[in-house]
Amino acid sequence: MKIGFIGIGNMGMPMASNLARSGHEVTAFDKSKQACLLGQERGLRVSSTMKDFSKEANIIITMLPADDHVAEVYIGKEGILDQVSQSTILIDCSTIDVNMSRAVADEAKTRNLDMLDAPVSGGVSGAEAGSLTFMVGGEKNALEKVMPVLKVMGKNIVHAGASGSGQAAKACNNMLLGISMIGISESFTLADRLGLDPKVLFDIMSSATGDCWALRNHLPIAGIVETSAANRSFSPGFAVAMMAKDLRLAEAAAKSVDLQADLGILASKMYTEFEKGGSGHLDYSAIINLIQRKAFTK
Ligand code: NAD
Repeated sequence: MKIGFIGIGNMGMPMASNLARSGHEVTAFDKSKQACLLGQERGLRVSSTMKDFSKEANIIITMLPADDHVAEVYIGKEGILDQVSQSTILIDCSTIDVNMSRAVADEAKTRNLDMLDAPVSGGVSGAEAGSLTFMVGGEKNALEKVMPVLKVMGKNIVHAGASGSGQAAKACNNMLLGISMIGISESFTLADRLGLDPKVLFDIMSSATGDCWALRNHLPIAGIVETSAANRSFSPGFAVAMMAKDLRLAEAAAKSVDLQADLGILASKMYTEFEKGGSGHLDYSAIINLIQRKAFTK
């Protein structure tokens, strides 16, 4: 397959590299010169414009930071929707707003183009290992055509429904993960103040009704769970800034369907506060530091 890959940052670089290694003809593009140089060093073919490969590509994958970047690349002044050929399948793997994702897919549809939203979970380590989970929205037929390509980059590829459904699934999942981590952090901070041994609480909780994935994999206390970022001074993992962004997206999605998701809104507020306080680079489980500082106010 001829694949155009736009956005070779922390996630896109290993994803594009895996595709090139598996024998696909990959041409990458990034706005940042530094990312382009790094791509060349890693053996990727890098182009200086999107135009160079847009017409020829069977598939174009984008892995961009946020809404504005996706809008610029697809429907901006030199957007690829007006450059690709009818048979090109477009896959946006960025995590963006559900409604923005639907709006871009609608623009693609008016040009008779197939577009999938396919945000991922699994982080940089999952991208490097080719073990990402893809949550895919859009036509099932188009997904089936690109399945072998997605399988190079991921282990679980789930069709979530119509356009925007991949972003919706990601927003719902990460809203719950953020809320869960705050709950775990409050629970273990309470335990500490009540004089409970955290290891004893972990053993009880992980086989009781408080059990959950974040508890067993990302416990925000050092020395108990091997995979916890707490064991390495909260170096990420999944950064606070990313969680704050995802929670804001979930909040916007809830608002757009007139849902007051109280816990989601509070989680978004807490992660944004923690990020603004200078902790955006830490793992999301470091939110326990914010909670440990909190005292009861009458
Ligand atoms: P990143 O900032 O490292 O990479 C994004 C790249 O896009 C950058 O190299 C940037 O220069 C490039 N870019 C921006 N605008 C562009 C444009 N107009 N044209 C071409 N290139 C452009 O971000 P990342 O960590 O790779 O994340 C990418 C997406 O994946 C985000 O939406 C993020 O929320 C999501 N995500 C990230 C992780 C993670 O752990 N990093 C995990 C899951 C999902």
